[in-house]
Amino acid sequence: RKMVFKLSTGSDKLDKLLGGGVESMSITEVFGEFRTGKTQLSHTLCVTAQMPGKNGYIGGKVMFIDTEHTFRPERLKTISDRFNLDQTAVMENILYARAYNSEHQFELLNSVAAKFHEEAGIFKLLIVDSIMALFRVDFNGIGELADRQNKLGQMMSRLQKISEEFNVAVFITNQITSEFNNNQNLLEETHKPVGGNILAHASTTRIALKKGKGNKRIAKVYDSPDLEECEITYIITNGGIAD
Ligand code: ADP
Ligand code: MG
Repeated sequence: RKMVFKLSTGSDKLDKLLGGGVESMSITEVFGEFRTGKTQLSHTLCVTAQMPGKNGYIGGKVMFIDTEHTFRPERLKTISDRFNLDQTAVMENILYARAYNSEHQFELLNSVAAKFHEEAGIFKLLIVDSIMALFRVDFNGIGELADRQNKLGQMMSRLQKISEEFNVAVFITNQITSEFNNNQNLLEETHKPVGGNILAHASTTRIALKKGKGNKRIAKVYDSPDLEECEITYIITNGGIAD
């Protein structure tokens, strides 16, 4: 039987909000506007996933799919330092892939599954930063929306299957709708994650991120059937996400 584990985000408060951390055999999505810390959180998880954790978790390798070209090995060094880990060893445990279009992003999942199969039980985390960016570019007309959602659905079910088959945590980042909305009653609508119902149903846990003052950020549980709908603050540091 596969043992579910939880990865630390680097912030105790954020871990608590998530019910213990980023869980394996499920998809965790964070969404928010530019500079809310989605990529910094992804980088932090690249490191914490390699460390032993609660309930006998031994740590493991990470697969990072980068769609926006924002992966920064330099950032991993200072995050490794914070946790007293060897920088080179940390880098060697991260497999990096750049996706160039939405189809490529989907095809990469075949290589990911092959790799996870080849190194059975070694990989613990799969990151897609960000899940929708390339889909929004490739399917930009309203007439292409149904097609986009169809392809997105296929990709999300593949991710779910991978998370369960290989007992890995799938962590995805997402953007919010940026349409300007004049109607004050609908102001909330502009802060919705993109991807519609397909993404809403596929993500097990959804966290909304917002900017606070300075390096402070706010995280809030979004539409969860089993997590308390509270919010917490975290900070972005040179050592990654922290309290
Ligand atoms: P997103 O992916 O949500 O657009 P990022 O994860 O890239 O956002 O976060 C960008 C934010 O992280 C910026 O506000 C930036 O100032 C902050 N940041 C980046 N690197 C560091 C660092 N080394 N120390 C502190 N803050 C940092
Ligand atoms: Mg980013």
